Amino acid sequence: MVEVRGVHKSFGPLEVLRGVDLTVRTGEVTVILGPSGSGKSTLLRTINHLEKVDRGRVSVDGELIGYRGARGRLYELKEKEVLRQRTRIGFVFQDFNLFPHLTVLENLVEAPVSALRRPRREAEATARRLLERVGLSDKADARPRQLSGGQQQRVAIARALALEPKVLLFDEPTSALDPELVGEVLDVIKDLARAGTTMIVVTHEIGFAREVADTVVFMDGGTVVEQGPPAAVLDAPAHPRTRAFLSKAV
Ligand code: ATP
Ligand code: MG
Repeated sequence: MVEVRGVHKSFGPLEVLRGVDLTVRTGEVTVILGPSGSGKSTLLRTINHLEKVDRGRVSVDGELIGYRGARGRLYELKEKEVLRQRTRIGFVFQDFNLFPHLTVLENLVEAPVSALRRPRREAEATARRLLERVGLSDKADARPRQLSGGQQQRVAIARALALEPKVLLFDEPTSALDPELVGEVLDVIKDLARAGTTMIVVTHEIGFAREVADTVVFMDGGTVVEQGPPAAVLDAPAHPRTRAFLSKAV
């Protein structure tokens, strides 16, 4: 379970998150919608402590992220501890972020071996299983640049899964793709949802949200304006700002 409580974040004078609360139960999918600049990426980045919050707290499966508490006070964790936490919070970026000089298989093996100290042979077996799961068994020895954008993104998802994350965060995973490649990536995410993977997905794909989300969250101006089941938020939004946003979305 992911719990975000009272999170505030400013960049200089700009308050980007103004007291965000969010709960994502284990095995559920939350889709975050909202206009550009509303704080969606910043919120995702606070969940794995890529952005430090100014106020509030984030926990994953009951473990405080970025801090430890003692006698009512919070102490920031050492970088090494934060990295350990981050290995279990998968992050899939818009632009894939694969290691260009490594093969597809090596992209999946690297972190489990170096961060989780898995034996290489075991990590390779897991990697091959995951490549099969995302439909890319035949690409194990290819380099990222030899793959289409959709294939690269599926590798990125498999790479995140290789660390057995407690939650997977997606920041607009299909926004950089040609339209005809969007479906294959959304299909992989749908499969993960069916298998009970806990996920938070920032996307503009309303159809995907309707089909896959347990909860849809609409953000605007650094706050959660409205949240609920897709049928409520997408088909009968209570807030005028949600209605205005959806009326412009295709
Ligand atoms: P988009 O849909 O365009 O991706 P978003 O909802 O993800 O938007 P954020 O990227 O979270 O929005 O940004 C929210 C605001 O914070 C924007 O005004 C952005 O310019 C600003 N911002 C984000 N990161 C930084 C930073 N590192 N330094 C300064 N300002 C930042
Ligand atoms: Mg963003």
